Amino acid sequence: MAGEPQDDCLFCKIVEGHVPATIVRETESTVAFRDINPQAPVHILVIPKVHYANAAALATAEPTVAADVLREAQAVADEEKLESYRLVFNTGPGAGQTVFHAHAHILGGRGMQWPPG
Ligand code: AMP
Ligand code: ZN
Repeated sequence: MAGEPQDDCLFCKIVEGHVPATIVRETESTVAFRDINPQAPVHILVIPKVHYANAAALATAEPTVAADVLREAQAVADEEKLESYRLVFNTGPGAGQTVFHAHAHILGGRGMQWPPG
């Protein structure tokens, strides 16, 4: 489901201010906040304010907002002075998605391995 805030969605609660988060940037359509369990020295999530289950749903339904998420990811990287960073959209439980509200992980501040685990 998309559009309305979902009662059982942690990231909708962060957007609404009902769950605290360390917000680093906010626009009309997006929020960026620090991951509670960082996997790199810099680990920030960028989410659309509107609920979509994953990046694919977001890109299909709201391509303008999907572009806003990408633009905000670069803005976060600039603010954090990351010359290189990894941008990850885990999509589906098999890929490690645990929160089903679209989000981009920005990971930086250390070397990265490829292929990822
Ligand atoms: P994913 O596993 O791709 O769905 O990513 C979900 C991310 O949300 C994980 O990296 C979690 O550490 C992070 N996370 C879970 N709860 C919170 C929270 N309350 N505030 C910030 N990040 C969170
Ligand atoms: Zn949500």
